[in-house]
Amino acid sequence: MTAYKDRSREELLQEKSVLEEKFKEVKAKGLKLDMSRGKPSAAQLDLAMGMMDVLNSETDLKCSEGVDCRNYGVLDGIREAKELLADMTEVSPDNIIIYGNSSLNIMYDTVSRSMTHGVMGSTPWCKLEKVKFLCPVPGYDRHFTITEHFGIEMINIPMTPDGPDMDLVEKYVNNDPAVKGIWCVPKYSNPQGSTYSDETVRRFARLNPAAEDFRIYWDNAYGIHHLYDDKQDNLVEILMECKKEGHPDMVYKFCSTSKVSFPGSGVAAIGTSKANLEYIKKQMAMQTIGHDKLNQLRHVRFFKDIHGMVQHMRKHAEILRPKFETVLNCLKHELGGLEIGNWIEPRGGYFISFDALPGCAKDIVAKAKEAGLVMTGAGATFPYGKDPQDSNIRIAPSYPTPEELAIATDIFVLSVKLVSIDKILENK
Ligand code: PMP
Repeated sequence: MTAYKDRSREELLQEKSVLEEKFKEVKAKGLKLDMSRGKPSAAQLDLAMGMMDVLNSETDLKCSEGVDCRNYGVLDGIREAKELLADMTEVSPDNIIIYGNSSLNIMYDTVSRSMTHGVMGSTPWCKLEKVKFLCPVPGYDRHFTITEHFGIEMINIPMTPDGPDMDLVEKYVNNDPAVKGIWCVPKYSNPQGSTYSDETVRRFARLNPAAEDFRIYWDNAYGIHHLYDDKQDNLVEILMECKKEGHPDMVYKFCSTSKVSFPGSGVAAIGTSKANLEYIKKQMAMQTIGHDKLNQLRHVRFFKDIHGMVQHMRKHAEILRPKFETVLNCLKHELGGLEIGNWIEPRGGYFISFDALPGCAKDIVAKAKEAGLVMTGAGATFPYGKDPQDSNIRIAPSYPTPEELAIATDIFVLSVKLVSIDKILENK
């Protein structure tokens, strides 16, 4: 396949008119397709329906420590839920607090508490002239909206195949006391689906922050979300690494069962040092008398242990894998060799990250919308919604049915081709 940039003006115009015909045909179908958010499909949600049956009016609702889960009590989570989520996030049950239904909520709360009350005795961030966060890009839009909401200045850190550019991270964290945090999705990252290398994690643990209240916000949302049994990414466990390097309090690990059981009705947790946990619990005691223990119990009785959860994730993979492959095969088949985009083939997570020619992402998303396909807004993967290159587009293949997905991907590649041709013609 000859790259578009190497074709003559006439050849490009001819290709464009063929593609425009095809585009008109799909547009006329009046489709309504959505590849914008990483939501599990109904078939995936069905996998956890057994959870509806594990608790009923006959069930013994006492947890292992004898507490009646129907009543108040147990601020930081029932023991068996701590064990399950501790295994999920690879820490000790003594290093975990179980929260409510959302890890994003814990992240918001963690930033909010640091703003108003500081971090273990440090000056509350709201009293400081400037507070900064490092943001590996492209990244998760909802992280960026939290820090933007609190007026925290966000600094872009380019992602490499091994994780964030650690030379830059070290430069900022070790020299600038206004840098208080970094957002990380270390495994099957949102949106690239890539995993931080062992060396990257070790460099994180070896950071020497200029600010005593600097923390790594380690959002391991896709820690057990593999697509393949035989090709799995491995992530070094960071809490232990930080402890080994003499920085036991430097990391907060966040996780939830949102994309294991039911998004919005799962169980979320923070894993961190005991000193951090004690500080957090003081605030928590004022926020709530305790989270939903019945839901914690429901999760434990359904999955039983981490092995049950891993088995369950295999069933998710069976549904997700063909969807990812449909998109990846189409990208390879339709765009391979044209030199109008790059993408990574992930082994897990929920997304495929597509980098179009600079200056094309917004137009591609708009073009796809014309034919009834909603994509994540261009720019959303960057702080302030501003992609300096206007190049990155996040593809979320999980929600549409396989049939819808095949059509959606066709619309996407058509849009990429049409917009890229216009861009190349502009410069010819
Ligand atoms: N973190 C990341 C990286 C995510 O992609 C998502 C969901 N899309 C979340 C957090 C949200 O998690 P929760 O449902 O636990 O709030």
